[in-house]
Parts: sequence; structure tokens; C-alpha cells
Amino acid sequence: MVTYQRRLKLGLSAFWKRYFSLLWRQVSENHDERHYMRALLHRQIESWHHTIRTNNAPLSPQARQYWRFLTWLDADDTHWNRVYAVVQLVLTFFRDHQISPLTHTFCFKPSKQLWAYRKRNRQHILNISLGFALADDNWWHAFLTAVLGGDYATARQLSQDFANSTLYQPFRRMVSVIAHAPVGQVYNLAELFHEINTTYFNGRLDMPTLAWSKRRTYAKLGSYHFNHDAVVISPILDDKQVDREIVSYVVYHELLHRVHGVVERSGRRYVHTPAFRRDEKRFLHYDHVIARLNELNLRNDPS
Ligand SMILES: [Zn+2]
Repeated sequence: MVTYQRRLKLGLSAFWKRYFSLLWRQVSENHDERHYMRALLHRQIESWHHTIRTNNAPLSPQARQYWRFLTWLDADDTHWNRVYAVVQLVLTFFRDHQISPLTHTFCFKPSKQLWAYRKRNRQHILNISLGFALADDNWWHAFLTAVLGGDYATARQLSQDFANSTLYQPFRRMVSVIAHAPVGQVYNLAELFHEINTTYFNGRLDMPTLAWSKRRTYAKLGSYHFNHDAVVISPILDDKQVDREIVSYVVYHELLHRVHGVVERSGRRYVHTPAFRRDEKRFLHYDHVIARLNELNLRNDPS
């Protein structure tokens, strides 16, 4: 039997292209249409919501990225207002540096790539990931100065630094191909996450993508994927024989990777730093959990 998976076409990227260039033109011509534009986005999202609810078909991976991105933008007025403020900031910067908004354009994109600056037919185009809307005004001034001045090394450094900050994590999830799938046969990773977050992080962490992996890995019980902001756990732990405490410990270990990041020293990358190990030992009944792992012949992330 041949099954044909129909995909829903909403025209999200075409909408965004038109919408953003309209916004760009309005601000550059000093037409303040922000209330109209804000409402326009919201109406469009509502209409797509309706289409998605009434059609039982999935979105393409690209459409899914745009969908997450546009719903993030619509979900909170502070998000939309910040994007609008950045458009104003960029255009003010252009004016102050005698750069014409007709030869230079700028667009926020839902993309894995942090930013790209290119020249096509005497048109300069700066595309940048939406997550950078949350960077502050000083960051934007430094970044625009670097990019438009041709200092790409500095621009790369600035964008990397911001992309490694916790403010940027939700945007890594938006463009990720790893699906949030926390519910296993026995354990729900989202439940464990909430307990850990309350107990060890004062509830400060936002939820990463949580998923049971498809492969049954024994040497690595879990991993943290920085580029996706995803904690992925081996399904050998999704088993009644395995104590809840052990699964919880493995999730905690991976969350510490997220919090501690990677330390680079003389060209080498370190993840299990002394500070990491100190935090790891804060896990309640740490010694007991390690002993149980040994009994079950499991060892998490020995490197
Ligand atoms: Zn580790």
C-alpha cells in the first residue's frame, strides 16, 4: 500500500517576507503603522491556527520553523515590540552612517545560520536569526559597526557570544529537527525535568527539547545537543527495572552540560570541568545513585 503524506501549505515564509519588507518600508518612511501591523500578524496567526486545526496534515520542516518563529513573535507583545524597536534601531544606525535603506536591507529569519551578509546586484542584504532581537542596543550597535565596516571576525565573535547565552536557547529549539518527545513507556522526562528544575535550579531553567532516543545506547545514557538545546536519553533507562532516581540523575547530568557549556583552553574543549563535577555531586544521594548504576552495569558518560 502506498501512503501519500500530504503536507499543509500555509505560505508562511512568503507571508513573512512581505510582512517584514512592509514593516521595513514603513519605519524607513516614518509611517507609524505599528498597531495595524501588530494586529495583522495576530489575525494571520489565528487564521493559520484554524487551518491547522481543521486539516489533519503535518507542516513541512521548513514551515514548522516559520510556525514556531511566528507564534513566538505573536505570543507576547514584548517580543513584537522588541522586533519593531530593532528595526527602528537599524534604520537609525543607517541614517547616522549615511547608508540608504534602499540599497541595504535587513531581515530576521528563522534559520540555523546565525546571520549572513551578502551583496547581490548592488543590493546589500543582512539576514539574521530572530533570536538576536533579544540582544540589547549596545550589542546591536557593536554588531552593525562590525558587519557594515567589513570586520567579520568581530561580527562572528559577537554573534557567537550572544548565541551561546541562555537568552538564545529558545531559538535553537525553534530551528531544531529533534522533536520534543518526553513521554516514554515508564518515565516522563518532562516530569523529571520539572522536579530537577525545582530542586536544583530554583525553577530558573526553561524547558529544553526532551526526547527518548531511537537508539538503545549503553555507553552513553544521555546527551545534551547544544545546537538543538535538546536533552536526549537512551531508552534502556525507560524501564521499570531502572530506578526513577537514576533516570533523574542522568537528566540532571545533561542539564549541567547545558548550564556549564564548553570550556576551551589552549585549543582543547572541556565539558566535565571541576566546577561541573562539584555541581554533579549536589545531586541528592549521589553516591547511592552511582553505586546503583554500577550494579546495573551502566555508567553514564565516563569521559
Ligand atoms: Zn557528561
